[in-house]
Amino acid sequence: MKYVSTRGKAPELNFDEVLLTGLARDGGLYVPAAWPKLTEDDLREMRGLSYEEIAARVMYPFVEGCIPEDDFAHLVADAYAGFDHDATCPLKQLDSNTWVMELFHGPTLAFKDVALQLLGRLFDYVLKKQGKRVTIAGATSGDTGSAAIEACRDREAIDIFILHPHNRTSEVQRRQMTSVLSMNVHNVAVEGTFDDCQDLVKAMFNDLSFRDEVNLSAVNSINWARIMAQIVYYVYAGVSLGAPERGITVSVPTGNFGNIFAAYAAREMGLPIDQFIVGSNSNDILTRFLSDNDMSMKQVSPSLSPSMDIQVSSNFERLLFDLLDRDGEEVEETMQQFRASGKMPMEEDRWRRAAKDFTGHCLDDNETLAAIGAIHESSGELVDPHTAVGIIAGWTQRKDPASPLVCMATAHPAKFPDAVEEATGIRPALPNKLADLFDREERFEVLPNSVDAIQTRIRKSNSAGSAE
Ligand SMILES: *Cc1c(COP(=O)(O)O)cnc(C)c1O
Repeated sequence: MKYVSTRGKAPELNFDEVLLTGLARDGGLYVPAAWPKLTEDDLREMRGLSYEEIAARVMYPFVEGCIPEDDFAHLVADAYAGFDHDATCPLKQLDSNTWVMELFHGPTLAFKDVALQLLGRLFDYVLKKQGKRVTIAGATSGDTGSAAIEACRDREAIDIFILHPHNRTSEVQRRQMTSVLSMNVHNVAVEGTFDDCQDLVKAMFNDLSFRDEVNLSAVNSINWARIMAQIVYYVYAGVSLGAPERGITVSVPTGNFGNIFAAYAAREMGLPIDQFIVGSNSNDILTRFLSDNDMSMKQVSPSLSPSMDIQVSSNFERLLFDLLDRDGEEVEETMQQFRASGKMPMEEDRWRRAAKDFTGHCLDDNETLAAIGAIHESSGELVDPHTAVGIIAGWTQRKDPASPLVCMATAHPAKFPDAVEEATGIRPALPNKLADLFDREERFEVLPNSVDAIQTRIRKSNSAGSAE
């Protein structure tokens, strides 16, 4: 399997190179040169298999040539062994033709774990084979840092530094990160804001000699392997609900467009999907695009579903590449105009192609609270604000009522207890595995908002090696 950049100028790469590279050198994102196909017989044979077995089958063509099949099956099984539900990503029926796919049974209660638990192991495997180590660096407002930390903890070839703003995350968020005491995990509380943290990480990546010195890398949401791991649960849902004979409609609370793009990839591979529904909060750029061909940037406004507080969805470029018939030069021009003018130029017939399959729907914070309340009222289920947006978007926009609606539940309700309590009067409890979170020992360092200070700290652990 070869991978090509959406901007057409970076070299074609193998899977292991794509994994470690992340962003392509021409500024584009990597996608498979051609989609591997799942035949109808392939889909039928998957019925009744476990999530891990389906995962190994669906993903193997993407890594073939880089990882032997047995090793890969091992990595996959190990990645999901720590999920606290036997089905890994269980489907729960909500009403006569609506299902919720629970993607939050991993260590940090959010769907990012599904991809990152595998990504950490893939990094480790490929790096060890090459005799290399990397330093992963990232910034978090509190929400996603723990998923990266859980993905990298105890991996021999990785050191991870996560910067969070000191005293500006919730206690649950901080403790989920700082109670991981593994030697290769370094939590840094920066005396500054989340923006300061992001600027520090950017500055380190822009310092090329430092970047080479410590072999700096990232596990951000544009990494192809994250999309790859997310394709699996769409196939799992599809074969559980009748593929290949019957299609499904999927509804996805969307931020960076990674999760919904994985659904699109599943359909390109042969899974019957009737419609893709994109849920947004008041940051509604994707809804405006899909209803009126208006992809114009506005200010990001904070909401009850912070993981969707995004204006430019980085993974949209992967869909754009296909909408523009895989013409890298045209993607490059389109993205440049988008950056320069704040509005994406899109010819009518291209937009129609997107709007035929994808439907957008947005909810503001009041509607989101009402949604959490209504879903609880009608089904007894407590859902987090992101999931609620996806369910209502699905119910509102599904075109074919006979097509089973599968809504992606991207966070456990206990991750957003205040919103859930406000909407339902019930405060969701942390699951057992996190029940002792407030009693756990924490470890983090407080550092000033200074690139020098952070770099000095990273160098110190780098020269000490993994034995620090
Ligand atoms: C990251 C995240 C999303 C958005 O997913 P994308 O792949 O960025 O579209 C939605 N909900 C939750 C809870 C998330 O953590």
